Amino acid sequence: MGTYYYLSCQQCGQYVHFGKMLHTQGRTTLQGMYSETTQAWVQDERVWEALQVFLVDHCSHPLRFESDEDNSALDEYVEVELDVLLHKRERVRLESA
Ligand SMILES: [Zn+2]
Repeated sequence: MGTYYYLSCQQCGQYVHFGKMLHTQGRTTLQGMYSETTQAWVQDERVWEALQVFLVDHCSHPLRFESDEDNSALDEYVEVELDVLLHKRERVRLESA
């Protein structure tokens, strides 16, 4: 067990999951976003790509960065997975091309 961190939309009841807070070599980092298809944590530019989709989808909604200790109702929220966000991003790109 540990404390997991999320960016959640209070309005839509959705969240993206960043894993645990890691403290290594004096730095605090998040694990990243988890890819179900590769079964691995992702920390590269794909996280930013996915995050942008989430931010645009929830533009002007009340977003909160929090841990599962801050929000005990989080299990009633729906997780939006990295792969889903990236897929959506690709689709948008194709449509606008
Ligand atoms: Zn929203």
